[in-house]
Amino acid sequence: MNSNRCSGARWSIGILALAMAIMVMPAVAGAQAPAAPPPGQAPPAGGPPPGANNMKAPYAPFHIIGNIYYIGSKGLACYLITTPAGNILLDTGYPDMAPQIEGNIQTLGFKLTDTKILLNSHAHIDHGGGMAEFKTATGGQLVGMAEDAPYFESGGHNDVMFGDRNLFPPVHVDRVIHDKDTVTLGGVTLTAHLTPGHTPGNTTWTMVTTDKGKSYNVVFFGIVTPFPNTNFTGNPLYPNLKADWQKTMDVLPTLKCDIFLGSNAAFYNMEQKHDALLANADPNPFIDPAGCKAFVDRGEATFQNLLTNPPPAGGPGMGGPPPPPAGGTK
Ligand SMILES: [Zn+2]
Repeated sequence: MNSNRCSGARWSIGILALAMAIMVMPAVAGAQAPAAPPPGQAPPAGGPPPGANNMKAPYAPFHIIGNIYYIGSKGLACYLITTPAGNILLDTGYPDMAPQIEGNIQTLGFKLTDTKILLNSHAHIDHGGGMAEFKTATGGQLVGMAEDAPYFESGGHNDVMFGDRNLFPPVHVDRVIHDKDTVTLGGVTLTAHLTPGHTPGNTTWTMVTTDKGKSYNVVFFGIVTPFPNTNFTGNPLYPNLKADWQKTMDVLPTLKCDIFLGSNAAFYNMEQKHDALLANADPNPFIDPAGCKAFVDRGEATFQNLLTNPPPAGGPGMGGPPPPPAGGTK
């Protein structure tokens, strides 16, 4: 199966093939030190998890809409948001993807050193692991949600899900932000929405972009769907796990969404929409409020199902072992 062709409804297959491989640790909120992973549930230490290579596969960068460009890999979305005063980077992929993402920026005709601000969806190796390199390469300032800032600063140490199994180069957070804080550059403003659960500081970003004379509300979703082995009450180290996810579920429907984007390409059928864009689809296929609502509704349905049918607790804060991914892994 090609995860990049996944329907939105099947992101839990394509992405889960990767995600479940690495999501085997309990989610733990707050500053409490997480317990070590149960040995039988931990993937091999070191290196990317199975499926990562496909997620990292190069993808030609392209203009999405307005002042927003896709510069990520096939699976791991990264964005460049341009302004008259310089550019904003959102997410980096894995640390070793830095040359690929930097090359994508340059392929589009932008200078790395014009990147003034570095944003992230959350402090995990596969989305923000390259921040240290990008700070060096661009001179940009890293902005991070307060609840995730410690994990950037420590390079993923004591991660709430991974323990120390997915470490990345530590990086200083230049500006620590909180829920609903904004980031402005060159007249472009992004708002940070705390959508916790996947990580304590998981962030969904919103902005307005203008294209062909029309303004659109853009949502860059973080990871906002619980994984199907999540047991909300099984982790004594994370008493607020359920409440955190509930907050996320409460926030998401309130976000105005015309342009549907996110931290994983499969969330919003990136490749399919890009193909349509290349075929001169009009209107721009990334304008997808219905798809956006369906994505949010699926997350809510997953959350509610986990509440009513909790998986057996297989360890602190988690359910049993992840189910085998349907449709094969990659
Ligand atoms: Zn993550």
